[in-house]
Amino acid sequence: MADIGNAGPQGSGTRGALVVGAGIAGLAAALRLHQQGWDVVVIERAPARRSGGYLVNLHGPGYAAAERLGLLPALTPRDIGFFTSVLVHADGREKFRIPAAVTEAAVGNRALSLFRGDLESTLYDAVADLVAIRFGTTVAAVAENSGGVVATLSDGTRLAADLLVGADGVHSRVRELVFGAEPEYFVDLGHMVGAFPLHTVPEHVPAGVGTTFIGPGRTAAVMNLGPQRSSAFFTYRCPNSQAELALGPTAALTAAFGDLGRGVADALRELEADPAVAYFDSVGQIVMDRWSSGRVVLLGDAAWCVTVFAGYGAALALDGADRLGTALAAHQADIPAALDSWERSLRPEVDKRQALARKGMVRFAPPSRAHVWAGELMLRAIQLPGLRGLVQRSIQRANN
Ligand SMILES: Cc1cc2nc3c(=O)[nH]c(=O)nc-3n(C[C@H](O)[C@H](O)[C@H](O)COP(=O)(O)OP(=O)(O)OC[C@H]3O[C@@H](n4cnc5c(N)ncnc54)[C@H](O)[C@@H]3O)c2cc1C
Repeated sequence: MADIGNAGPQGSGTRGALVVGAGIAGLAAALRLHQQGWDVVVIERAPARRSGGYLVNLHGPGYAAAERLGLLPALTPRDIGFFTSVLVHADGREKFRIPAAVTEAAVGNRALSLFRGDLESTLYDAVADLVAIRFGTTVAAVAENSGGVVATLSDGTRLAADLLVGADGVHSRVRELVFGAEPEYFVDLGHMVGAFPLHTVPEHVPAGVGTTFIGPGRTAAVMNLGPQRSSAFFTYRCPNSQAELALGPTAALTAAFGDLGRGVADALRELEADPAVAYFDSVGQIVMDRWSSGRVVLLGDAAWCVTVFAGYGAALALDGADRLGTALAAHQADIPAALDSWERSLRPEVDKRQALARKGMVRFAPPSRAHVWAGELMLRAIQLPGLRGLVQRSIQRANN
């Protein structure tokens, strides 16, 4: 059995962590633990890196965590910044635009807008030479004894560690093995989400612009920030997410959005040519009374998935990883005490973001035409000088 708990010289006192999942949460945890002198092994089920996805926003605690992790010098040049957002009709014609300055004033300058893939790459580059990352590997069994935790991996090897971090996303295998089956914790919000990078610049979206169509039960957004910087995002309400997953991204997204024109039609054509790049999943929150058991801790979507409707999953993954490192440093040998204090520090933020997501769902998939109309009225109102400050202050309150 490989003993990663004492991967350094025997008796050196070096602690070992096994991190399951090389997403944002897993890579950030690996970085933070390595910075504190832990030996870290990361296992990732996918055969190679997963750099897809749409936009992630880092502001408030998420931005502060990126700063403490030392990521800002690499992330700042990749900031998309603020772009002009154009609301469009179903056929792609412009309804009205929201100038970049409006969003900028609401979010402030301690904020980054990034492609998820750029955040993943930055984290990967920061840890790749420092920790062992094994792709194409997952965890088959977990057992705990008085001295630590032992994981049996899918390749048959066993690893012993002082701490096991389950950062394997919303459908976490670690959660299933240690805490119980997914239906006990997954609260289905009745929507699907799809996102993918566009290798060809969308012909019908002007350069530097993101177009958004919002209709009853659905949103489609297509962004043209030039070659390698263009992307598409979809979300829609659905009665049966398992049936949508069985269809796969191309058939499901074409059925839900195939009637839309211009940028959306460009994006769906591209998806058909390369469906493997798409992130496509049901939208559901993970709600648990406790995120750790002994020396096993869940982190990121595995523990608390806030969903795309919060716009804050990546920020919470970074914040959670950073706080985990702080708590482990403060409690040294007492890992369960560290996990207790970590959870207490993070719960209020997670509860707030989950509640905001449930509230925000109607903005992405308005229940009726009247809701679509009311949403548009609010977006138009942002641009009126008298109301702009009011709306910006309410956005700031939600962000921080
Ligand atoms: C490719 C991709 C694209 C995404 N795009 C978007 C998007 O456009 N919009 C959005 O809101 N959210 C998106 N997400 C989810 C978003 O990244 C998370 O909500 C957030 O960043 C929190 O990250 P996480 O690390 O907790 O979870 P995730 O980002 O889901 O990462 C979990 C990682 O664990 C790996 N994994 C899963 N199961 C196992 C297992 N059994 N063993 C080992 N490894 C395992 C996964 O392959 C993945 O790399 C995407 C996720 C991925 C993986």
